[in-house]
Amino acid sequence: MTLLFRDPWIKPLSDFEAGSDSCKHCNAKFGDVEFVTSCDFCEIGVMHDRCANEHILKKHRTALESKMSLHKDKPLHDYQ
Ligand SMILES: [Zn+2]
Ligand SMILES: [Zn+2]
Repeated sequence: MTLLFRDPWIKPLSDFEAGSDSCKHCNAKFGDVEFVTSCDFCEIGVMHDRCANEHILKKHRTALESKMSLHKDKPLHDYQ
């Protein structure tokens, strides 16, 4: 089993770092190679990349929206 951690670099997680061989969101066992990531808002553990998106949208909608509004007014680059 190889779990590729998406952020900030793609790096294989050790079993210890992964802490689990199944996704915390959908409870499916990880396959041979999976893209996984963790939640920015809680310590739930590693989830499939797509599951993390769902999880964040479901559980942390308010936090996400305040985070988005925090960055909304900022230009991407200083010179814009
Ligand atoms: Zn999942
Ligand atoms: Zn979370």
